[in-house]
Amino acid sequence: MGARIIRVGLGRDLHRLVPGRPFLLGGVELLSDQGEWGHSDGDVLTHAVIDAILGAAGLGDIGELFPPSEAAWKDADSMELLRIACGLVKEAGWQLINLDCVVTCESPKVLPYRDRIQASLARVLAVPRMAVFVKGKTHEGLGAVGTGQAVEALVVCLLEKSTPQEASPGDL
Ligand code: MG
Repeated sequence: MGARIIRVGLGRDLHRLVPGRPFLLGGVELLSDQGEWGHSDGDVLTHAVIDAILGAAGLGDIGELFPPSEAAWKDADSMELLRIACGLVKEAGWQLINLDCVVTCESPKVLPYRDRIQASLARVLAVPRMAVFVKGKTHEGLGAVGTGQAVEALVVCLLEKSTPQEASPGDL
């Protein structure tokens, strides 16, 4: 009898906010007078999603796959990095059940963009829109995020895989 293996993943990222950069979340640009600093395009939410799915699959992390020391990833489209990471996770036999995400920043407000961000991530991950949820929070004026110097993203995901054999303890 086959077994169904389920694994949870956690991703977290933080980027400094600076003038003259686009503010990107899940491939969607939010109207803002500052955006994420980064070697790539700085899309903090997409980076956390990549780490969550790679972690759940046991395939490493974003820094190993796309080292910031490599010129190839300079100004890279983070949604393209997600497409690559998602391909590796699927090649390893995993299916994404769902993602739940929290973005913390003082401004801009995430809610008006929420549906577009969820749809954008769901499209690249090839999952139903209902499988991706995004919440926006503030940091109550405290710390680097609270004073508008940074934006943070936290993501959990669930992956599942069916195996033809009984799962061994090492799979669970
Ligand atoms: Mg990052």
